[in-house]
Amino acid sequence: PQQVDSLSQFMTGSPKRIGVLTSGGDAPGMNPAVRAVVRYGISKGCEIYGIYEGYQGLVDGGNFIKKMDWKSVRGWLAVGGTSIGTARCMPFKTREGRLQAACNLVKNGIDSLVVCGGDGSLTGADVFRSEWSGLLDELLATDRITQDEATKYNYLTIVGLVGSIDNDMSSTDITIGAVTCLHRICESVDSIGTTASSHSRAFVVEVMGRHCGWLALMAGIATGADFVFIPERPPGDDWETTICNVAHRHRELGKRKTVIIVAEGAIDSSLKPIKAEQIKDILTDRLGLDTRVTTLGHTQRGGSPSAFDRILATVQGVAAVDAVLRSTPEMPSPMIGMSNNQVTCKPLMKAVKLTHEVAKAIGEKNFARAMELRDPQFAEEYNVYDSSTVLDDVSLELPEHLRLRIGILHVGAPAGGMNAATRTAARYAINRGHTPIGIFNGFDGLINGTMQDLSWSDVDGWTSRGGSELGTNRHVPGQQLDMGMIAYQMQEFNLQGLVIIGGFEAYSCLVNLEKARDRYPSLCIPLCVIPATVSNNVPGTDYSLGTDTALNAIVNSCDAITQSARSSRRRVFVVEVQGGRSGYLAVEAGLASGANTIYIPEEGLNLSRLQSDVHHLMALYLDDDPDKSEGRIVLRNETVSKTYTTDVISSIFKEEGHALFDSRTAILGHIQQGNTPSPMDRIRATRLGMSAIQFMERETREVLSMHQNKTTPIELCKTVDTAVVVGISGTGVSYKSVDELAAVTDTKNRKPKDAWWYDRRPLVDLLAGRGLFSAAA
Ligand code: ATP
Repeated sequence: PQQVDSLSQFMTGSPKRIGVLTSGGDAPGMNPAVRAVVRYGISKGCEIYGIYEGYQGLVDGGNFIKKMDWKSVRGWLAVGGTSIGTARCMPFKTREGRLQAACNLVKNGIDSLVVCGGDGSLTGADVFRSEWSGLLDELLATDRITQDEATKYNYLTIVGLVGSIDNDMSSTDITIGAVTCLHRICESVDSIGTTASSHSRAFVVEVMGRHCGWLALMAGIATGADFVFIPERPPGDDWETTICNVAHRHRELGKRKTVIIVAEGAIDSSLKPIKAEQIKDILTDRLGLDTRVTTLGHTQRGGSPSAFDRILATVQGVAAVDAVLRSTPEMPSPMIGMSNNQVTCKPLMKAVKLTHEVAKAIGEKNFARAMELRDPQFAEEYNVYDSSTVLDDVSLELPEHLRLRIGILHVGAPAGGMNAATRTAARYAINRGHTPIGIFNGFDGLINGTMQDLSWSDVDGWTSRGGSELGTNRHVPGQQLDMGMIAYQMQEFNLQGLVIIGGFEAYSCLVNLEKARDRYPSLCIPLCVIPATVSNNVPGTDYSLGTDTALNAIVNSCDAITQSARSSRRRVFVVEVQGGRSGYLAVEAGLASGANTIYIPEEGLNLSRLQSDVHHLMALYLDDDPDKSEGRIVLRNETVSKTYTTDVISSIFKEEGHALFDSRTAILGHIQQGNTPSPMDRIRATRLGMSAIQFMERETREVLSMHQNKTTPIELCKTVDTAVVVGISGTGVSYKSVDELAAVTDTKNRKPKDAWWYDRRPLVDLLAGRGLFSAAA
């Protein structure tokens, strides 16, 4: 096979030499970021150098600066921390240290640096760049570099990737490592929950976050904690009494555990630190609760990166190389971030400045400004948490005449987050004075009248529960079920709003119910779908609930399969994933697990494609060291082809692989629905649950106000924009009507016509070396 490293010889001019380093605290996802920089960089004809031990390696040079090849980063997607090492390096903070670092870069011919780290590391990189010409002048004057070198390396390109578990950088919605850290926290808090319940104990859990409460807040939302303390929003003056009241009230309602999450940088309104031990003493002394403190510490940084971080780091690593290739001396150093679900490239120092402003605002007790400086989602999430956790907040209650009876049901296959959405919808509804009604077993249950009012404690603990507590099935009114009977029961139970949580079937239900409004007045109420399906094929949302859980389940399975395949040597696993006619899971899991290729319905599958894949695999195995030969994975969407089934593909690989490789299959099936929902799914569910109820309120406020002191009409709303999918659009929540969605839906294939994630598809093959290792068939 043609060697990848020789690609740059075919490029005109000398190839760019990019150094990549990780610095500051380690973050899970740094390895996938380095992998992407190395592989994508090589594919673009660049030479990539790994700089080991952060800036220390840059200062020390020698063996700390190593050329990376395609195989150097094999398997790194699944590895936590950073395999090229990181350090806090004092010498780099001095000009002398940076002078030595500049000398090492020039001597190694490196003209660009991709730095993955926190705000300190990125500031250091920018300082280095701004001094660059002065450093070169000095190196030239002291004969440490030649005039030619000074001319050739006259400017340094810097690109920042934000690796930080705190999610504390401004100008990006999320940083590499934060979501994995949240996984670790939620796993711990879930575990603590079971022992806390058993002994009826209280636990105060301290999590990381010196100036940033993102981890504490999100963990609070995702685990249904009773209270959270974060630096940006200190509690009210007599917070000691408040937490006791909250804990006491929750106990009164039947809760056997109390969990309070404290960010390590939590403070009160006079900036005095709030510490876990202090909270423990308050709960023990005032309420007599058997209270324990758990400081999660470094477990939070550890473990294999979550699917989210692997994908984030991969797409951002690719963007970093593109930014290097686009850079000019005039451009400010960019930072690769994420905004509205899009990769962004913004001036690095502006982001650092804004980040420092948060700490400054907190120091000046300007907490409103501190919240404002966080991403827009942060304040909204805080409100969601607040209004779905604490009961008896009278400020939330609506006047009697605006209160609704809201039915909630699940449709389709179970998906992670269905219960969390139900719980938040129910609790928020209760806090507003509405009556939430849980309908069991989907529309069948509605027809049979199997439903019950949901109390605050009925839904306790649902945030972290997988499956569907209400029960779910695929029956769709108007297709398998009698619409008349449904309308009758809606009137009988006086349902004034309906939240349908589910996948494409839920969307079909919405369409059918809306169409039937002309015939049945009881359907003229706000109707709302919260998308929940692993396939991510519901129109009107970027993400359905359950997708993140499914991706993590697939990625974990693929890690195990890869290990087995690696141990058996020379084995290709054909792994079948779900998704219906949507290739979403295959594309995203392909990126996160480092699949060799994927087969998705959007592309179809034929013999020539399989033949070319066999050739590619042969080329890879010919190139492998036989003693260390890799296991490889090919992901196949379940519906991609009736002929080329998972077994058939595997048999073809076996037959055609000859002595070079063998093949096996793995069909993941229902494993993909996950066990416990992932933190991302829980958080998205919480937000959508509350948004669904807010939608009901908005759409009925006017008519209910008009009928104050009169009988409430059966028909509350009829326009098409009152039958919506409430979805995630970028960082916001969107409400798309059935009308709007009809135009963008491919009904035959049960999915949206356009898919934002499809742009990522080529990266799967590219990062597996296709096009670089050419076939030797
Ligand atoms: P974390 O979020 O984990 O704290 P960080 O990147 O902010 O990560 P720092 O310890 O602040 O961590 O910085 C890491 C390294 O970056 C420092 O040890 C130092 O080598 C370099 N560095 C930080 N600030 C500067 C600076 N102002 N000038 C030069 N180098 C710096």
